[in-house]
Amino acid sequence: MAEQPIAPASATEVLAIAAHRDDVEQTCGGTLLRMHSMGVSTAILDLTQGEAGTRGSATERAAEATEAARILGAGWREALDIPDGRVENTWENRLKVVEVLRRVRPRVVILPYWVARHPDHATAATLGYEACFLSGLAKIETGTAPHRPFKIVYASLYADVRPSFVVDITAFIEDRHRALMAYHSQYANQSAGSGLFVPEEEIRERTFAEARHYGALAGVRYAEPFVQKEVGLVDDLTLIPVQSL
Ligand SMILES: [Zn+2]
Repeated sequence: MAEQPIAPASATEVLAIAAHRDDVEQTCGGTLLRMHSMGVSTAILDLTQGEAGTRGSATERAAEATEAARILGAGWREALDIPDGRVENTWENRLKVVEVLRRVRPRVVILPYWVARHPDHATAATLGYEACFLSGLAKIETGTAPHRPFKIVYASLYADVRPSFVVDITAFIEDRHRALMAYHSQYANQSAGSGLFVPEEEIRERTFAEARHYGALAGVRYAEPFVQKEVGLVDDLTLIPVQSL
């Protein structure tokens, strides 16, 4: 019997796109860890390099992002050169994301939720969505074959919105915290920007409490929330998770 061809080990199944280095760690790092533990390959695209931050240089943040990606088990991570604090949904920026989508060829894309306090986060959602659409158009030539992701989900941790579903990250909450703490320049206790940044201990308490809140909604300990624009599809009513009463 002929051997079945298998997908190359480098094929990425889940790509998380976010405005800033450390956004992914906060909003869907546990989910990426969970996917990785199930043998699903993951990747991260940061739209900016963090040069506008109060603390740390873009170079420091690059090294920290690499270390955080290693902790998360992401197989690939890159940062575009879109200006930090000025993420704009321009044609030029859409093409930059299209080029990545066609190279990484993910089945699932995680974007930030489209309503957000930080304008970069909200713009990253629309920019990412439009890039996913354009990436499937053959007439837009980038030198690589068109590719349209099958699914887009929005990480809604910081949005005041009821999630469509949550992902149980109970087994991964400590590793997610380690990935966030890899950003020493941002989160280690220090004097620069101390009026603006919360101490490390508070970050742990806050992020665990948020995850606990979303976990409680689904009857698990810690979870991360997501919104999908599509409705859910069910094959078997007896297998729908999350107990009603
Ligand atoms: Zn951010």
